[in-house]
Amino acid sequence: MSDLKIEKYSIGVGDRFAHQAKAQLQAFIRAASEGAPAVPVWNKSNREHNIVGSEPSAVRAAADKAVADLGWTKTYYVDADHINLTTVDRFLEPSNFFTLDVADAIGKPANPADVEAFLSKHPELTGTVQIPDIPEPFEITPEVATAWTNKFLFAVQDAGKIYRKIESIKGKGAFITEVSMDETDSPQTPTELLLILAAIAAAGIPIQTIAPKFTGRFNKGVDYVGDIVQFEKEFGDDLAVLAFAIKQYGLPDSLKLSVHSGSDKFYIYAPIRRQILRFGAGLHLKTAGTTWLEELIGLSEAGPEGLALAKEIYAEAYSHREELCAPYATVIDVDPAKLPAPEEVNGWTAEQYSGALRHDQENPAFNPHLRQLLHVGFKVAAKMGQRYLTMLEKCEQSISRNVTANLYERHLKPLFLDGID
Ligand SMILES: [Zn+2]
Repeated sequence: MSDLKIEKYSIGVGDRFAHQAKAQLQAFIRAASEGAPAVPVWNKSNREHNIVGSEPSAVRAAADKAVADLGWTKTYYVDADHINLTTVDRFLEPSNFFTLDVADAIGKPANPADVEAFLSKHPELTGTVQIPDIPEPFEITPEVATAWTNKFLFAVQDAGKIYRKIESIKGKGAFITEVSMDETDSPQTPTELLLILAAIAAAGIPIQTIAPKFTGRFNKGVDYVGDIVQFEKEFGDDLAVLAFAIKQYGLPDSLKLSVHSGSDKFYIYAPIRRQILRFGAGLHLKTAGTTWLEELIGLSEAGPEGLALAKEIYAEAYSHREELCAPYATVIDVDPAKLPAPEEVNGWTAEQYSGALRHDQENPAFNPHLRQLLHVGFKVAAKMGQRYLTMLEKCEQSISRNVTANLYERHLKPLFLDGID
């Protein structure tokens, strides 16, 4: 069998309660029929599995079933999202895409002899570094090169250890490797990315997608906050760096950028699209919780019972807002003063509920604080267990309509189909 090679365009989709794979796949079928050949990657992190109480094998089962039911003949993947050496085991069998999360290892010192050996093997990373398609050359002093190597080499070595563990079980070329560094405080610059890719190649990792931390704020389920012009410039420079590193270091030519917390970042979709078209580059964009929010919207629109459950989930999330938000402090901005009281929400019509929650910034009823709270509130539904799942099944039509439309209209279409001026 030849090595697995990721398609040019892929979108990560999350299905927290394993009921929406079919509705999600419908969006890809529709996009393919309109001329956007993106493939789905079902992702679920170890953290999500722990909160929901699910197993990675269930993600595989749901994906396989959706693919069989709908007759999808293209590729699809199951992503062990944000795993490390201690959490990878239960993902080994069901996954064929692995996101090696080494963000926590950034800044940990590597062996000084390794740092020296790396730098002496890579004189091209010091001095004036000219990358095609980046007008200004990078000026990297020996001190800066040493500082960056100290900052990133240990993390990349860590990724190498995780990679080799997976390879020893699954075999070379049998899975896609992503390295993620997004869950950290400061963004990585295009120049740092070059050094990281050199180190990844040196560690023997056949990386196909890389998730740096980009400039700006990628809050969960809501739009991008930051300087869009600067984002586009850096995104373009990152693409130039990737193209250069593929040639310079012999990395897989399928290597592409992966945008984490990518759902609902509507402000940057046109810039992303412009830049990938400019470079002829691929793209992986991860979404996850956006689908769970569509489950709630679908419930609220499905009739009195569904609406009552959606309200109950909000009331529970509201009363546990501090503990629900705490683990996500760096990726949400919820102002408690802007959250409606549950008594108020309990009086809402379906239209009011879905209007506050649905990510339509033109709608004056849209409330990003409520949306972010519910985004992290899936634990409440997980606790309801079978009662929640039964209602998902009962309200399936209304939910799948929303799940498909959200992925197609608000994600696949602007990223891969809309015209660019
Ligand atoms: Zn991530």
